[in-house]
Amino acid sequence: VIESRAAVIRDTSQPMTVEMVRFEDPHDAEIVVAVHTAALCHSDVFTIRGSWTKVPMIPGHEASGTVESIGPGVDGVAVGDKVIFNFIPPCGECHFCLRGQPVDCVRGMGDGTMLDGTTRARTRDGLELRQATRLGVFSERVVVHRDSVLVVPPDTDLRTASLLSCGFTTGAGAAVNLAAVRPGESVLVVGVGGVGAAALQGAVSAGAAMLIAVDVSEEKLDLARTFGATHTIDAREGDFSKRVLELTGGFGADKAMLCVGSAHPEQVVSLIASIAPGATAVLVGYAGEMSDMPIPPSAIGMSHKTIRGCRFGSDNPKRDQLHFLDLHNSGRLKLEEMITRTYALDEINEAVDDLESGRNCRGVIEFGGVS
Ligand SMILES: [Zn+2]
Ligand SMILES: [Zn+2]
Repeated sequence: VIESRAAVIRDTSQPMTVEMVRFEDPHDAEIVVAVHTAALCHSDVFTIRGSWTKVPMIPGHEASGTVESIGPGVDGVAVGDKVIFNFIPPCGECHFCLRGQPVDCVRGMGDGTMLDGTTRARTRDGLELRQATRLGVFSERVVVHRDSVLVVPPDTDLRTASLLSCGFTTGAGAAVNLAAVRPGESVLVVGVGGVGAAALQGAVSAGAAMLIAVDVSEEKLDLARTFGATHTIDAREGDFSKRVLELTGGFGADKAMLCVGSAHPEQVVSLIASIAPGATAVLVGYAGEMSDMPIPPSAIGMSHKTIRGCRFGSDNPKRDQLHFLDLHNSGRLKLEEMITRTYALDEINEAVDDLESGRNCRGVIEFGGVS
């Protein structure tokens, strides 16, 4: 039995509790990871507040850590390895994995139980405890499937690498793979939270010439310049598409990415109006709260614009995580600059409030584990 302090959702209308929980020893192909740093990602809010969440559950899916012990039949992961977590554990053998799309693996994100449908953790009062996306990393230690982690080199800085686990790879991957930014292009990024800051950096690494950032916060626009924005637009001044057209000689941007936590219909309309004929707009943020997707017919017909969705930045997030780690190690990515506040686990509810009110680029919880 493994004991751990963890944040637990017992009631989605109430603050989380921080309590001692118990994990069974790892089953076949499972490992125990001591969490080092866990970042708060906007999709955590949907789990923490969502009426569909099966409680009790430990939330959290964006983190790094060190392997503490391994269960039977574990290959390719050893005690002491540094890892980053993945919210989709690709099987390598299904329809989608075999065609090079592990991001769409039929295992999916799950319902908080492990791959065999059972739970591994319990509360002290004996309730079966689910782990969000089979991870639940707002916990000092977790039992997870071996496929839910990516082993990273021993010299990896676990604090900054935690961001590569979800948000950074989503935003930068969207720029590099889905918008497929080319050298010299003009690129628009709407929303400069963690995902938007990553989209900006991905666009820089791909050779964007003009990089326009849109946000409602002066601080976020300052941050955007840190991450490579050449122009900024304060969205409080109204429809940003007019300004984008001015900046791009009346043509519109070559690529655009919507990176807000919860997208609004008018943002989608402005995004599509901001791009040139033949250009591509990527909806990077979670759009599930929109009941209707307003795509103007003029964007589809003679404007031949492309509008695409995004799941985790590409077909193959683990490949991209290693590329982005290499880029960071060679000094070409600003990850530490994205971390605007560090919390203790006991401050988890405050951290979620700050996330919801857009106060942070990225907030992280430090567990002070082995580094
Ligand atoms: Zn995430
Ligand atoms: Zn698969």
